[in-house]
Amino acid sequence: MSDPGPGAPGQEAAALDREAALERFRTLLRVPTMSRNVVEDTDWAAFDHFIESLPRLYPALHSTLERERHGHSLLYRWPGRESGTPTVLMAHYDVVPATAEGWTHPPFAAELTGAGEDQTLWARGAIDDKGALVAILEAVEELVRTGFQPAHDVYLSFGHDEETVGSGGRTIAAALDERGIRPALVLDEGGAVVERIFPGVHVPIAVVGVSEKGITSVRLTVEQHGGHASTPPRMTATVRLARAITRLNARPFPARLSETDLRMVETLGAHAAGPLRAVFTRARRLQPLLRAVLGRLSDETRAMVRTTTAVTQLSGSLAANALPETAEAVVNTRIAVGSSVAETLTHLRRAIRDDAVRVEAVDASEPSPVSPADGPQWDRLASAIGAVHPRAVVTPYVMLGASDSRHFTGICDAVYRFTPFELSADERAALHARDERIRTATWFRGIAVYTALLRAS
Ligand SMILES: [Zn+2]
Repeated sequence: MSDPGPGAPGQEAAALDREAALERFRTLLRVPTMSRNVVEDTDWAAFDHFIESLPRLYPALHSTLERERHGHSLLYRWPGRESGTPTVLMAHYDVVPATAEGWTHPPFAAELTGAGEDQTLWARGAIDDKGALVAILEAVEELVRTGFQPAHDVYLSFGHDEETVGSGGRTIAAALDERGIRPALVLDEGGAVVERIFPGVHVPIAVVGVSEKGITSVRLTVEQHGGHASTPPRMTATVRLARAITRLNARPFPARLSETDLRMVETLGAHAAGPLRAVFTRARRLQPLLRAVLGRLSDETRAMVRTTTAVTQLSGSLAANALPETAEAVVNTRIAVGSSVAETLTHLRRAIRDDAVRVEAVDASEPSPVSPADGPQWDRLASAIGAVHPRAVVTPYVMLGASDSRHFTGICDAVYRFTPFELSADERAALHARDERIRTATWFRGIAVYTALLRAS
């Protein structure tokens, strides 16, 4: 069924292994480990089933690595030949909920279509993040089977609730911290190998997250005496809240370029065609121009250069004919690297300029520290990517979303966020949406990146 691709020695054996690997991947994709915002709604039997399936599918790995459970999250330790700072590979096996509605192929059927480079596997979690998790398992299983042992310990940290509260990642990071473990490198999901995201650059780009924005939900509250809606005061709580939101929307956070942004523009600029190269390689001197351009180019670049706010929840009165005693809005803020929760609250209060609107942070999380985009750990990751994607330019970037790896920044200086798959814009758009899918050739190259990294661990 599957096309082994361009000829190589031992092609038949490799093709057989590939088919078996793909079947294991499909088996795990079919387990509906859906994260639920209301924890009580979680189908824990699916999570147990997923965990129980692993030793049968990966016998060599499970006979060599130690495994411990932290609730439904898993921590594996692969003992190294000598003592030294370990490597941590992270992934999560919970997925965003999906029903069959609107999908071309049902989300938990793991159907295959096409052949060769076009062969595609359709499933929720095919990329985010069982794609990465199972690729790690495949890489380790094969290395163990062939007798490889890493120089230093390797840990695999597999979370079960990354898509909701991320408690698994936090618990495992705390457990490692308690044991005094200071990893040399932590790799979690994040950037990918992408094309056509940067004007003038026509080579593949491997974007590696060296930091991530902070996330804080801010609650805006206006309180007022209730009463009948037939005799409203001139300024009801809801109107005051609406005014606050409009004011806030009219005063976006100022655009600024972080050191990482500048480094990315310079790195990619060196590969840009034509006159753009001259602009991008002078990024530092042309900062005001770049800020202005990136601040307007697209929703993505606008979010890249500033703290963003999105009003996600609104509530008022419970009855159609009663004035609300409390009107409330939740503003989801993504805080730029270099800024802080405190600075964000100050900006919001100034923008709203109304003391009757209470502004308070709930679930405050600061932007992550920035991992170095050079040095031995960066080079090790870049070489592993380069071994599989020789044409790709490897660049640091600031991740706009959040990952479980933020819990590891307290115990490791080199925390990177990179999913080793080439993803088109369409494939990226299917994450957390309908028709999530991965090209199988892409997945196999992902396994190869993890293998290269593990060989150097
Ligand atoms: Zn994910």
